[in-house]
This record gives sequence, structure tokens and C-alpha cells, in this order.
Amino acid sequence: MAKIIFFQPHPDDLEINCGHLIHYLAIKSKNNHIIKIASITKGEYGLPSAQYDKFKGDLLAKVRTRELYNAQSIHGIPPENIHFFGYVDGLIEFTRDFVEEIAEYLKKEKPDVIFAPEAIYTSYYHMDHVNTGRAIYYCIHNKLINFAPTLYFYSTLSPNFFFGFKKEGFNLIDQLLACHKTQFWLINYVKWTYKPKTRLAGRKLRGWKYAEKYRRVYFHKNNENKNKPSLIVKMLSHWYSSMPWFKAKYPQDVLEQLKKKGKI
Ligand SMILES: [Zn+2]
Repeated sequence: MAKIIFFQPHPDDLEINCGHLIHYLAIKSKNNHIIKIASITKGEYGLPSAQYDKFKGDLLAKVRTRELYNAQSIHGIPPENIHFFGYVDGLIEFTRDFVEEIAEYLKKEKPDVIFAPEAIYTSYYHMDHVNTGRAIYYCIHNKLINFAPTLYFYSTLSPNFFFGFKKEGFNLIDQLLACHKTQFWLINYVKWTYKPKTRLAGRKLRGWKYAEKYRRVYFHKNNENKNKPSLIVKMLSHWYSSMPWFKAKYPQDVLEQLKKKGKI
């Protein structure tokens, strides 16, 4: 039995990155793992374009919280195992306060294993994602916590761990995403990105057609060379990091307030 925490910046990140692994650990594995979900924001600005502005903010936060509860109930994970940090969607910065808050949470929870968005070789260059991964990495690497959980990153360009699933596994993803009704574009994402991506990852795993991919991070000096990415991953990461972040699309009034505060 292990305690496993899945971190996500926004409700729905885990569904499209770790859906099969969470389902296995929570339901199929007979090891009685304790699974917790740590959501840094409620994704309250997670709708495209200004035509949806009237829904953004508190209303969307409420709806997306419910959507997350519904999706996690498919894995049998109850709302009391889901923690929200209350950060503003699109504004997760790599600050001392944020890192300390994550460290406090980890000290309280003492997980054996952590899953988080890739901090270094990311395939999704969103500020909230990268900074969530960075904060967790920093807590472990700089020994802000006095134990050493195993860390895996998802949405990584440099995977070293694959979790296989069969074609029927797409039914689970469809069910999970059906809970996130506000994130309607995910239907196309599954078709055009998720399916080819998991098919490609499946080639790395004997006996499986599809797979989710993860990077286990090695902190011990003896294993540090296992963290080294390929040249292509290095080049891609360099190229990504020169691009502007993906950002939340704030309504005009919120945008002006944030500008005044010097937040954006
Ligand atoms: Zn996200």
C-alpha cells in the first residue's frame, strides 16, 4: 500500500495525462493505495475567447469543481481526497510562497509517490503546468521536506516509464472527459492528439498498443545520469522555452485589474 498524490494545475489535466494509471491504482490494483488529487487552481478562466467571459471566474470555478468530482468518482476517489490550493488560473508563479505552501502540504501528507506536470522537458509550455512541476521538484531536490518521495512527471518529452492500455481503454477516457462538459474541445483533442500520442508511446511497450508516458526523476547522485535527455529533447525544450507561455484568457475587466497589479 502506498500513498500517491497526483498534482494538477487545472481540473481535467489528470484525465488527459494519467487517466489509465489513476484508474489502475485506485480500482484495479489490489494494493489498497491511498490516492489523493491536489489541484492548484479550479481552472476558473479555462474557456476560450471573449464570448464565454460571463461564465469565467466564480461560476466556472464552481462548475469545474463539480466536473472534477464527477470524473474522479469514476476512479472511486471521493471529494475528501481532492484538495484545492486556491491559486488563480493562469497565474501560478514559481515563488517562495508557492514552493513553501507545496512543501507544507507534502510534509502534512507524506506521500510515497508524486505525479506532477513536467517541469523541465515539458510537452506543454503552460506557465501553470511548468511552475507546478518546478515547485514540487524544488521541494524534493532542495530537501525542503525530510523524506524522499518518488517523483514522476507527466506531459513529458523525455519519458522513461510507460503505462500500457488497450483500445477499449479509450472508453474510460471518453467517460472521464464527458464529465468535463465545459472543456468541450477535448473531444477533438482526443481524436487528433491523444490517440496518436498514446499510440506512439505504445510502441515503446511490448505487448501494448497504447500507453501513457511518464518521466521518473532521479535525485540520487548515482542515478543522476538517468535524467539526461536525448539531444532532440534538449533542442525541443530549448525551442519551447523561447516561446511565450500558454496563458488563460481573462475577461477584459479581470485583465485590466491584473495589469494594474503588475501581474501580467
Ligand atoms: Zn492544465
